[in-house]
Amino acid sequence: MIQPADVHNQRLVANVHPADWNNPIPADRYNLVVIGAGSAGLISAAIAAGLGARVALVERHLMGGDCLNVGCVPSKSLIRAARAIAEARRAEAFGLPSASANAADFGAVMERMRRIRAQISREDSAKRYRDELGVDVFLGSARFAGADVIEVDGAQLRFKKAVIATGARAAVPAIEGLEAAGYLTNETVFELTERPDRLGVIGGGPIGAELAQAFGRLGSKVTVFGRGPRLLPREDADAAQIIEAQFAREGIATRLGCELKRVERLDTGTRIHLTRADGGQETADVDAILVAVGRAPNVEGLNLEAAGVVFDPKRGVHVDDYLQTRNSNIYAAGDIAMAWKFTHAADAAAKIVVQNALFLRSKKLSSLVMPRCTYTDPEVAHVGLDEREASARGIEFTTFQVPLREVNRAVTDGEEEGFVKIHVKKGSDRILGATIVAAHAGEMVSEVTLAMVNKLGLRAILATIHPYPTQAEALKRVAGAYLRSRATPRMGRILARFMAWRR
Ligand SMILES: Cc1cc2nc3c(=O)[nH]c(=O)nc-3n(C[C@H](O)[C@H](O)[C@H](O)COP(=O)(O)OP(=O)(O)OC[C@H]3O[C@@H](n4cnc5c(N)ncnc54)[C@H](O)[C@@H]3O)c2cc1C
Repeated sequence: MIQPADVHNQRLVANVHPADWNNPIPADRYNLVVIGAGSAGLISAAIAAGLGARVALVERHLMGGDCLNVGCVPSKSLIRAARAIAEARRAEAFGLPSASANAADFGAVMERMRRIRAQISREDSAKRYRDELGVDVFLGSARFAGADVIEVDGAQLRFKKAVIATGARAAVPAIEGLEAAGYLTNETVFELTERPDRLGVIGGGPIGAELAQAFGRLGSKVTVFGRGPRLLPREDADAAQIIEAQFAREGIATRLGCELKRVERLDTGTRIHLTRADGGQETADVDAILVAVGRAPNVEGLNLEAAGVVFDPKRGVHVDDYLQTRNSNIYAAGDIAMAWKFTHAADAAAKIVVQNALFLRSKKLSSLVMPRCTYTDPEVAHVGLDEREASARGIEFTTFQVPLREVNRAVTDGEEEGFVKIHVKKGSDRILGATIVAAHAGEMVSEVTLAMVNKLGLRAILATIHPYPTQAEALKRVAGAYLRSRATPRMGRILARFMAWRR
């Protein structure tokens, strides 16, 4: 089911898809049936059961979904190991002998990842959901058999309300020869036990960029192929530029603005034929290809038509702002229905769905302030509007920016690459959005998110004492820059007169 079949993966599977699992006898009718036990499904089921609802949760593969098994958890474990190796390699800067470029034990790194994943998996285990949370867990493929009934493994689950939380999978681009040559996706890349010497990563978005840097640091010769003119195309252009420069320093090659034409299997690997941005033709030879060009929603096999749920294969299940589908008793949450494809977004959506489905239909997706983070080194975190979005909406704004090299903790840690950029509504300290590029940007963005959710401006950040020395002080410095911008010459003259009078 999941490779390699070592002790860690056996422990994982024993938690998230136990071989000896017996599905329960279905209740006459459930308050809530949840399809898919990834982030959105698990949270929906746990909260609803905690509120006293009779809940059934159906999972066809591994409980925990992408995040635990083939997403956040394995990728962040790998990234942490890769960072340790990168730091060891530049250890001379800290007065230690440097580790050699070939020192990484890829097998050991992957085993550590499998051990961590197995350890974390208890939280999402079938037994915990059944025995501790009181959820009826069905392992099998779910499909609608009508507007208020779902079938799984021959059993009929009647429901008052249902949640579709079937997630998404790697979208695969139509490139001639790719299928025949073979490729990795996030579903298979974490099964590797041997490092590919030359890795071609198709896609320069968050997943492609994170894994490209991790594999590069683990010793693969990595090339990232991107259609767009830059890495991380959704992010602030200055942020993307810092990551591109970091990749170049680390020897990760990028082919941006290129069109992949054909893939050809050779005796000694795979050849990628491409057209460069300048129209020139080029080939690149690799040992493995990782596809990371976006996500395709898992709508197939659900028989959504029988339930009157509208969907399409690109956007997934269509929902309104309350996450309700065309069938008012059926909701959808997470990657299957949302543009925000993050675990914390799936989690937040699950809470909305439970409230709207079981109680008053009152919570809206559009009310959320959604941060995000790409875990490259440095990390790139963002919340709210960026310059493009604010301009497109005709909002007048002012941007305050502080480079990390002006923050003492970044200097002492040798992590000076990056910046904090905060956009405020012109003439006020109201935060519209922020981009942070820093070693711990993902941690720092929560402070800005807290401020935005609670309608606190830059003055509130300035009034908050930040421990010295921390990278989060960069936020306070941005707030300080805002306050200085408010000082007028007239105010300066009044203060000078006051001080003269006090002397
Ligand atoms: C490599 C990678 C790294 C990532 N890193 C991060 C990160 O650092 N931070 C972050 O916030 N997000 C990250 N994400 C995104 C995150 O993993 C997803 O947004 C999140 O898992 C979505 O949760 P979900 O519940 O919507 O779907 P999923 O986690 O995909 O769960 C859906 C579940 O439904 C099941 N299912 C599907 N069809 C059926 C059916 N017919 N019957 C029964 N069960 C079914 C599937 O087997 C699956 O278990 C990453 C993703 C990837 C691929």
